[in-house]
Amino acid sequence: MGVFEDVVINARSAAETVGKEAGRWVDISRLRFSAAEIQKEISKRLENLGRMVYDSRKSGSPVDISFDGQIESIDALYKRLDEVNEKINILRKKTVCPKCGFDNAEDSVFCSRCGTKLGAEQNDQSPAPDASGVDGSNAGDNSI
Ligand SMILES: [Zn+2]
Repeated sequence: MGVFEDVVINARSAAETVGKEAGRWVDISRLRFSAAEIQKEISKRLENLGRMVYDSRKSGSPVDISFDGQIESIDALYKRLDEVNEKINILRKKTVCPKCGFDNAEDSVFCSRCGTKLGAEQNDQSPAPDASGVDGSNAGDNSI
């Protein structure tokens, strides 16, 4: 699963650069790539799961594989996918309806699809860094 781990790390580092306006679109494409990779991984695991069920049916023996672990890992991937998609939405500055999931424009007050009020759950924007130009790091500048 080396490739998948790389993808997760890429998604993380991309998320950490959220807010750097210059790299915004690069981050979005990176996150989209991550989302696609996670989706691929989910499909692969679902396929494996299906094959296991098929094989066990064909062989007539009861399923003695623990599916819990398989399902848990797929759930974890879905969760990761949600997180990545959420980050993409933040970068895109879209307001996703908490009720129906519709992508509304950033300044929408009500959902265009279901009419839910959107202002209530605002993503709090991280405050701008205090760039007041404090320069107190002149160690060893003690003029006698
Ligand atoms: Zn809605």
